[in-house]
Amino acid sequence: MFLALAVAGPEPQAVAIEKDKLVPAGRLVISGRRLSCGNTQTLLRDFEGFAVSSTVIMLNMQALDPLPRQVQWLIYYHECGHILYGPSETSADCYAVRRARREGWLNDQALNDICAVFNIAGHGPVHPDPEVRCNQLRQCFGKTGVTAREGDK
Ligand SMILES: [Zn+2]
Repeated sequence: MFLALAVAGPEPQAVAIEKDKLVPAGRLVISGRRLSCGNTQTLLRDFEGFAVSSTVIMLNMQALDPLPRQVQWLIYYHECGHILYGPSETSADCYAVRRARREGWLNDQALNDICAVFNIAGHGPVHPDPEVRCNQLRQCFGKTGVTAREGDK
């Protein structure tokens, strides 16, 4: 209903599409990397923060743009972790770094960049203390235990 009203408004439709763009699963490319999360669609739009997940992953491309590529990708995987494992921040973070490690593009430098972003981002009360969070990220990154086998390195 609201959507219909918006389209009927005086603004040209092209503008609306540019602001709010729904990207089908498997079609999202960020900084040269194709990112996917099962059948999850991505909604590109303006809002406060970088990314949100519910049944779609919402990304604010303008906020992501100045960040290092690996950080952008990791933020997406973090949201994907929420889609797969629910509201736990630790699980989402851990999923993200493990997947990144499996894909071979996450190193210590990128991990430091990510921690720096977490520190300034002010993720709000739902996310753990930045320092605690970084330590957990590093732990997940360094861990070669139970999940090590599922990837082909
Ligand atoms: Zn989160």
